[in-house]
Amino acid sequence: MVDEFYMFGSRPQPIEKLIISCPEPASNQAVDAENTGNAIMLSSLGANVASNKITQAVINLLNENPIREIMLINHTDCLASEVVYRSIHSGRSIDPQIYSLFAAPFKANHITVGDKRHLETDANPKLQSLLLGQIIMTWQAERGESARNMRRIIKMVNHASAENYESRARSTILALNPSRWHYEHLLGDASDLLGRALTMDSTYVLEPPDITSIKFIMREKGLRDVVFYAHGSDDAIEMKKLLRDLSKDDFIRGSNARLYLVGRSRAAH
Ligand SMILES: [Zn+2]
Repeated sequence: MVDEFYMFGSRPQPIEKLIISCPEPASNQAVDAENTGNAIMLSSLGANVASNKITQAVINLLNENPIREIMLINHTDCLASEVVYRSIHSGRSIDPQIYSLFAAPFKANHITVGDKRHLETDANPKLQSLLLGQIIMTWQAERGESARNMRRIIKMVNHASAENYESRARSTILALNPSRWHYEHLLGDASDLLGRALTMDSTYVLEPPDITSIKFIMREKGLRDVVFYAHGSDDAIEMKKLLRDLSKDDFIRGSNARLYLVGRSRAAH
């Protein structure tokens, strides 16, 4: 598929594990700890699997790989979850793009979160697990693959326990397609290409990226740096298009955003 396999040696292990997390830096260490070389990563605001883009990415990965384990890594104090659930619970209006991407799919999936009286952020892992279960069941029914044993594991990272957080102003969003990279290696490689350090405790890793999520993080966390990372030539084309679309956006034009594109060509390895 792409050329990121080199860091696991010349014989890459098959992808048997899918790790879904929030792009929040609090999750980065936990994601790396679970990545044993046979894993592929997806990240979505609030580890939200309801958005069409993530649902489709999960289904594509299940179709193309012998995945037997799916792990959801949530974290406490997740702003993205809070915004979405507050909106579903109280009906309070939020950005329509954020609503359609992350809140509306809950209703479409007949998850009756609106009925719950005291819906807190803590409900997120349960809801995501429920939705993930539905995605897996639908996929198995369509493919007749009920025989494939699929383990679902939910992990919770304590946001408050994360140490050495840098100031938000120095934080960065790293946007790329789903990959097998260890975040530590990925950030090291992107830092080399960029000529400045992207650190584990200050980088939001978004894979796959979408403009609504990038804008949400920039607005809510006060970030202005977005780095698009391309693994290969196809990714470079896709990232260039995203970067072009983002630079046309009114919010981005009105902010002092700094957009970068870095990447490795296939020939480099
Ligand atoms: Zn979060």
